[in-house]
Amino acid sequence: MQEPLEISGHTVAPGTRAHLEMPVGRLVTQQMLTLPLIAVHGAEPGPCVWLSAAIHGDEIHGTDVIRRALAAVSPATLRGTILALPIVNVWGFVHHSRYLPDRRDLNRSFPGSEKGSLAGQIAHLLLKEIVARCDAGVDLHAGSHHRTNAPQIRGDLTDPRVADLCAAFAAPYTLHATMRAGSLRHAAAALGKPCVLYEAGAPLRFGKAAVRAGRIGVLRVLRHLRMITRAPKGHATRIARKSHWLRASRSGILELRVELGDAVAAGQIIGLIRDPYGDITGRVRAREPGHVIGARLLPLVNLGDAVVHIATVEPLEASVG
Ligand SMILES: [Zn+2]
Repeated sequence: MQEPLEISGHTVAPGTRAHLEMPVGRLVTQQMLTLPLIAVHGAEPGPCVWLSAAIHGDEIHGTDVIRRALAAVSPATLRGTILALPIVNVWGFVHHSRYLPDRRDLNRSFPGSEKGSLAGQIAHLLLKEIVARCDAGVDLHAGSHHRTNAPQIRGDLTDPRVADLCAAFAAPYTLHATMRAGSLRHAAAALGKPCVLYEAGAPLRFGKAAVRAGRIGVLRVLRHLRMITRAPKGHATRIARKSHWLRASRSGILELRVELGDAVAAGQIIGLIRDPYGDITGRVRAREPGHVIGARLLPLVNLGDAVVHIATVEPLEASVG
């Protein structure tokens, strides 16, 4: 029999779903800054999984991914527990900002501490109350600062548990990603918890393809862990173990000649740069073959700005469906 879930001073009965607010600390106004949690506590015992979105407060589409994925999950038939955090960085979400009030990046603030900055306190609470009691997690992100990403799942593919989660997610692209110090993924790995990172779409937007591939991926991870019995068919995924950014060769106005998901050949012109009066001043060329998995949305570029993210993809592997 499944036991009731005790979390942050609340009790969630088996076979039910609850929306809780975990207190972090008081703001200038004395209002409580919280970490909102949707706990879906299954009727049957099983694994515990966390879903986190908007750690970067302007990367909002993960909030919609969680809403749509949870709508397909019934607590009465769920095995195990889903701890979903649709808005980790509430401050940034409200202010349409990646950061916290002191400009700290929450995803560089893990493991954090109880007595640290606001970012450190949120990080500490998330690790202690959520990650520590889970078996695996999915962290949902979007492109940052005027950039958009093709739907892609990232993780340390040398860890078989992470590679399995990535395969189950079956996003259009799967990227091997090394750990970044201070990130949730890094802190989770230090606790022995496999975590995959979903990157898709642009900040402050709900991209249809980004939300759809995210919802499908999350449900497929839950099915992989045998928490639910059915999930949608996944994408045939392109695996990439390395990627690089092509940068602006001149300052000016960028006209991109490629879109997300396009295959490019070595030497191919992927964008033209003009001065604001119409004359072409530079070209951005692909250095090697690959697929466009990220692109700049803001057409105004300075010399050296990142323009297009190219993944070196391996031959197509059909998804298991
Ligand atoms: Zn992010």
